[in-house]
Amino acid sequence: MTERLLKAVDARIDDLVALTADLIRFPTVNPPGEAYRPCAEYVGERLRKRGFETEFIRAEGTPGDTDRYPRVNVVARFDGRSAGACVHFNSHIDVVEAGEGWTVDPFAGLVKDGRVYGRGACDMKGGLAASIIAAEAFMEVFPDFPGAIEISGTVDEESGGFGGVAHLARLGYFSKPKVDHVIIPEPLNKDRICLGHRGVWWAEIETKGEIAHGSMPFLGDNAVRHMGAVLQAFEDELFPALDRKVTRMPVVPEGAKRSTMNINSIHGGQTEDFRPGLPSPNVPDSCRLTIDRRFLLEEDLATVKSEVTDILERLKRERKKFDYEIRDLMEVLPLMTERDAPVVKAVAQGIMAIFDREPDYVISPGTYDQKHVARIGHIYDCIAYGPGILDLAHRPDEWVGIADMVESAKVMAIGLNVLLRGTVAD
Ligand SMILES: [Zn+2]
Repeated sequence: MTERLLKAVDARIDDLVALTADLIRFPTVNPPGEAYRPCAEYVGERLRKRGFETEFIRAEGTPGDTDRYPRVNVVARFDGRSAGACVHFNSHIDVVEAGEGWTVDPFAGLVKDGRVYGRGACDMKGGLAASIIAAEAFMEVFPDFPGAIEISGTVDEESGGFGGVAHLARLGYFSKPKVDHVIIPEPLNKDRICLGHRGVWWAEIETKGEIAHGSMPFLGDNAVRHMGAVLQAFEDELFPALDRKVTRMPVVPEGAKRSTMNINSIHGGQTEDFRPGLPSPNVPDSCRLTIDRRFLLEEDLATVKSEVTDILERLKRERKKFDYEIRDLMEVLPLMTERDAPVVKAVAQGIMAIFDREPDYVISPGTYDQKHVARIGHIYDCIAYGPGILDLAHRPDEWVGIADMVESAKVMAIGLNVLLRGTVAD
């Protein structure tokens, strides 16, 4: 039924592998945001040769943007013969640092035993390559297709996406009527559709004290001890309460199907610069704690916050001299695209055609650029779907399977066919 389309993808396997390896060879490490421009230009140039209109958009003034490290994004668009919907594939081109423990060169794009190795192989240059191959195969088989295809390579996803998708969304790139459906080829695995993510609240809590000589701590007020009381209350009340909150969201892995909170850092008293000397004997007058709270569709942000501030307020009433401040650092609302949304159904048809079974529907424990597509661009017909195994992301010897990329590209090509031509058939 889709033979021609599948053959057109199969005919491009060498191209898909070479493209993935080429992308890995740009060391687009973030921070600081290395090699963004040449990588974006490489993607743009390839698509321009195939008839796409390409634009390079530098996100000036966003975090990290300098002349040495410009935040350069590429957006390419191909308009079909007649009007219709637009399907946008969005991939981030930045990768995290290589780190230690590699047995291969992380930026060589090594191809071995049916895999392409390198930093960003699965997260997510393999997905970007698969989406390009899917689009090119589709355009060859159905040159008269209605609607439009867009492919973007965006920066800074690993650091929040402010110079990437958020910036483009503010400029109207992720909005109707320009764009109708968005697929983000993050490495959620070839037979799973990721519908969204949990919410995020980051905050910094500071307890206050009063400095005094360490030999007479009773003359001061110890901010670290106050923070100890905060942590104890979290252990006794908050963590058990969060653990009891379950969700209808199909979050993976299993442990993330609940509310969670991480203590990111704690700093109190003198900084560690004194080392290797001796510390000065002071009672700390400040202690700062950062928390990373991940919440569910069933929770609202105001309640999430009050669960923490209620504890702090109670300590203020009960504990002598207890005083605190709390500062919001980041807020992201949870997102879940409905299963009957057009892009979900189209990709599900692709998965059923290739794997002969229903897809798994999942929710990511952490956020990705879908938040900006929804919140700024107001496009809710958006999913993450792409090749690669999420557990390999950010790890040494990261790789993406060639067969997985090929199958994903076929699913994406069928998804395009359903969304633009309304059929899985040739
Ligand atoms: Zn990613």
